[in-house]
Amino acid sequence: MKGMKERLAKKIKLITIVSSLKQGLAHHKSKIDRTIHHIRDEIVAESGQRKGCVTPTLPELEYVDVSEQEHDVEEEEREILSEFEENCPPGGEDSVVFYATGLRGVRKTFEACRRVRFLLENHMVRYKERDVSVDSEYRDEMWRLLGRKVTSPRLFIRGRYIGGADEVVALNENGKLKKLLQGISRVHSPCECCLNERFLICSSCNGSSRLIAEDEETSNGTMWTRCRECNEKGLVRCPLCT
Ligand SMILES: [Zn+2]
Ligand SMILES: [Zn+2]
Repeated sequence: MKGMKERLAKKIKLITIVSSLKQGLAHHKSKIDRTIHHIRDEIVAESGQRKGCVTPTLPELEYVDVSEQEHDVEEEEREILSEFEENCPPGGEDSVVFYATGLRGVRKTFEACRRVRFLLENHMVRYKERDVSVDSEYRDEMWRLLGRKVTSPRLFIRGRYIGGADEVVALNENGKLKKLLQGISRVHSPCECCLNERFLICSSCNGSSRLIAEDEETSNGTMWTRCRECNEKGLVRCPLCT
């Protein structure tokens, strides 16, 4: 009986210890909680003060509609282009075609061509140069487009006839040439195929413009036939820049 009492007493003691431990823990916990609350309040108060000192404001952004700007540029381009007569050289729908002469024979024409070429180079645009002194088909093409036997230079942009040297120089001075050339791809180096020579020596006839006729009887000497790959000077047009 005594032993039982002792065990009971021990149990009660243990319960008391455990419960006091629990109380202690609870006390600590509430202390920690209070500390956390305090710190949090301090942070809030501080940030409030900071807000009070420096009012954060967003920089005033100007609203720019890029697509609208692009639209305006296109519109302007179309307007300027429409001032010029529609007259499209072969392959000139979306490019710059320049009929010129590289021949120094007629000095005035040669110099006029050089002036236009200089302006095109200055604007660094990709253009097709068709030398009418090297290829008579180009000369005929130019005459056909303008309806009479005109001299070079003649400039066409996006299927419109722009004019000769005087017109192009004037357009450059009033800033319209730049606008007309907007959207034309830029170049920073000479043509990679012909180095701006515009023509290449025909590889079929090696520039002689004639070939030995294979189907002809050769009893009375060599028979020649005209090379079909090149022009009368044995040259072929550069496929990239003419
Ligand atoms: Zn070329
Ligand atoms: Zn040839």
